[in-house]
Amino acid sequence: MDIELPDTGTRLKPGKIVCVGRNYAGHTAEMKSEIPREPLLFLKPSTALVGNGGTVVLPSMSSDVHHEVEVVLVIGRTARHVSYDSALSHVAGYALGLDMTARDLQAKAKQGGQPWSVAKGFDTFAPLGPVAAATTVANISDVAFELRLNGRLVQKGHTGDMIFSPAQLLAYASQVFTLEPGDLVYTGTPEGVGPVHAGDVLSASGQGLPGLEVKVRDSV
Ligand code: ZN
Repeated sequence: MDIELPDTGTRLKPGKIVCVGRNYAGHTAEMKSEIPREPLLFLKPSTALVGNGGTVVLPSMSSDVHHEVEVVLVIGRTARHVSYDSALSHVAGYALGLDMTARDLQAKAKQGGQPWSVAKGFDTFAPLGPVAAATTVANISDVAFELRLNGRLVQKGHTGDMIFSPAQLLAYASQVFTLEPGDLVYTGTPEGVGPVHAGDVLSASGQGLPGLEVKVRDSV
């Protein structure tokens, strides 16, 4: 899936998807996890992406797939060891995304001290909405966003509540991974995560960000 930047029409090919776990205190508490001292990063493959209007396919390996609504940073300029102050200048745009999670497989992985790649990495587990140009978002740390499941409000968050701000996340992550144009950073989910089922419709919205809607179906 390519990503289109609305201001220039530039098309970017997402390389890696960097995700952040436990970046909101409310969600960290509902997962009975501890507040991290530094960002907890994991990766999803770009094959997990699905665009607005697409479909999340529930894998047969899991019987408990959860929604996690998140604000996503779209990298526009190569970022390596960037400072906190210059971090956001590497962001081309912002979008809403869903970090779909096979919670049963993740729980098993946590128990065994194993990575989350399977629990988080299935095809269609990274829905991504249309991108708002970074220039149109005055302050990414002042954005309210929410998720509705079949019209019912299930998650409500504010980017000001992040434990690590977008600039902190980029400064940290770019010490590990060179972030390249088209790479995505899913910045973590607020509380209210829960299961989805075949036939569900997930609709994310946020201040100044284009909406994201996807359907859910079983794998055949
Ligand atoms: Zn997440």
